[in-house]
Amino acid sequence: MKTLYTRRQFLQCAAVMPLLASLLLQGCKESSQPCMDPELLSTGEKHLRKQLAYVELSEELSRQCGLCQFYHASKSGDCGECELLDGSVSRQGSCTSWAADTRRER
Ligand code: SF4
Repeated sequence: MKTLYTRRQFLQCAAVMPLLASLLLQGCKESSQPCMDPELLSTGEKHLRKQLAYVELSEELSRQCGLCQFYHASKSGDCGECELLDGSVSRQGSCTSWAADTRRER
């Protein structure tokens, strides 16, 4: 099946693409913002985060902060509070103390 597009359809699509691309990039920039400025952390907190190998973006989707029993979500955004760490952590983050959240039914 061959689909032919008119020049008008092509130009309409070409006009919309930059807008979609900028919206997509904007979303990527916002989601890559750290939840906590490392410069604002105390020396002890920096040490603890390093000791627990905390990362803002975990590649292991099933072991992210959002699924951890120590995580408390905030009302907005992808940042929340961890019972073990001071300051904000990312919902997509993780550390070596991750424990399955048994508070919620799945
Ligand atoms: S204990 Fe680790 S995995 Fe769990 S919420 Fe805190 S930082 Fe995230």
